[in-house]
Amino acid sequence: MPRRSLIWNILLPFSLLLALAVVALDLYFSSSVRQNLIETWQKNLTTEAEVVEQLVSPLVAAGEPYTDLKQWVEDYARQSGIRVTVILRDGTVVAESAFDPGLLENHAGRPEVQAAFAGRLSADIRYSETTKRERLYVANPILINGEIPAVVRLSVALEDVDRQIASLRGNVNLVLFLVILLSTGLAYLIARRSIQPLGQLADRVDEISRGNFTPLPESKRRDELGQLSRAINRMTAQIHGQLEAIRSEQTKASAILDNMSDGVLIISADERVQYLNQAARRMFHYRDALDHPTLIEVVRLHQLVELWRKTRSTRQAQSQTLEVPAEKLFLQAAASPLEPALPGSTLLVLQDLTRTRRLETVRRDFISNVSHELRTPLASLKALSETLKEGALEDPPAARRFVERMETEIDNLIQLVSELLELSRIESGRLPLNITRANPLEILQSAGERMRLQAERARLNLLIADGPGDLVILGDPDRLEQVLINLIHNAIKFTPPGGEIRLSLEERERVVVFSVQDSGVGIPAEDLQRIFERFYKVDRARATSGTGLGLSISRHLVEAHNGEIWAESNPGQGSRFSFSIPKA
Ligand code: ADP
Repeated sequence: MPRRSLIWNILLPFSLLLALAVVALDLYFSSSVRQNLIETWQKNLTTEAEVVEQLVSPLVAAGEPYTDLKQWVEDYARQSGIRVTVILRDGTVVAESAFDPGLLENHAGRPEVQAAFAGRLSADIRYSETTKRERLYVANPILINGEIPAVVRLSVALEDVDRQIASLRGNVNLVLFLVILLSTGLAYLIARRSIQPLGQLADRVDEISRGNFTPLPESKRRDELGQLSRAINRMTAQIHGQLEAIRSEQTKASAILDNMSDGVLIISADERVQYLNQAARRMFHYRDALDHPTLIEVVRLHQLVELWRKTRSTRQAQSQTLEVPAEKLFLQAAASPLEPALPGSTLLVLQDLTRTRRLETVRRDFISNVSHELRTPLASLKALSETLKEGALEDPPAARRFVERMETEIDNLIQLVSELLELSRIESGRLPLNITRANPLEILQSAGERMRLQAERARLNLLIADGPGDLVILGDPDRLEQVLINLIHNAIKFTPPGGEIRLSLEERERVVVFSVQDSGVGIPAEDLQRIFERFYKVDRARATSGTGLGLSISRHLVEAHNGEIWAESNPGQGSRFSFSIPKA
């Protein structure tokens, strides 16, 4: 809305008041001043009438035909401009300066004439039918020998009074006009000086509402405007401070919400999502920037919408576990009404249980694997001991064979249990590594020598590299030797007699790569990725000996060195296991 300045609120009534004063003054002139003037004229005319009475009484006393009287009246009127009429007691006009007396009607009825015949000098103002003007009449009795035979009447037109008043009024009005002009101008200047700063203050407050908090220049005024300007500055500072505080609280709140791993949504009464945090966006792969999408647009999950509806209708907190099949997510959803803080709104918190679920599955699988691994040797121990009890004991050579087989099973059990213990110690970080600067060739050769006898027994050719010998790695030599022994052990197990096993070293940019290559049965491509998992065996029937834990232990040990382990294989032609350890 365009601004209409307050100045007009002051100037308009002010000028109106002035105009009223002028009109009042004018009215005063046209009535009171006119009255005064007429009174003065009347006084003069009265004095004149007394003089005239003295002068005409001898001429009236002279009687008919009044020739001198008529002459005198005419002369006097010509000189003074005053109309003179001499009227006899019967109303006859015997001398008249303005008209032919014979034409005039009887004047006995005129009030001033009647009063004069009663002996009083009297005056009247009225509209003259004869001259068609407003006139002032003064009639004076003419005393002759104690009687009043006639009356002399003087009269003037009041036109002159009005003319005089008009010229006076013209002058006064001119002065008044100048006064009005001057005082209005002055009033305008004064009002503007007081009101203009108000406009600036209003602009300032406008700016504040648009978020500009620069303070006004300090006002030096000591009046209300100065006070207002200082008050606005104080208020601006206060609002600014409060806004900053709110903003910082908001930033904190949104930082917390966005860094939470739980998804958080706030849903309004009309099923629109008022807020969703980053975790919630990730859970539902929601990337749109719609203003207030509906709940179903965001979650695309009917169960959640149902949960929200139930919370709305019961006004009570609800919770439910659900699955997002597309994302393979397990969620624990908790919905609660946000009354009374946000009436009608519902808070939805989604906890991602996927990892917990997966860990549970791993733990369940682990237990079932362990039980499975234990059951085979325990079952054969049970069978062997029963066979012994049922008579084999009586046959010493057979009994001996059975006991030896029992011993093998027990050895397998002991190995399984000790490998399990080892794995759990490594996994829980309870196996500290003794990292030192070490020579990889020494580690490789030491492991190879320890396994040489076993390899020879299996009629395999074990070739150990003799270079490069000048490398230094950061690692625990005992643990790395253990990894190599695991790999060589597997190579021996899975290579038919007459085969070959090669141990070698290779230097790369940041790492040294250890390799154990055999000419054995190899590993099918689909199993290559999985052989490092716990209990994983390629061919469960074939690999009767072994727990499926060796490679898992090796992987953990290598990874504890910040290294990597991998396998390559051509089924039927052999496998190559390698691991890298950082150089010193
Ligand atoms: P295990 O104690 O059974 O040897 P590992 O974890 O050491 O357990 O090995 C897992 C599986 O990987 C073995 O059962 C075997 O099927 C396969 N495997 C390991 N090394 C070799 C190899 N050199 N040649 C062929 N298959 C191998």
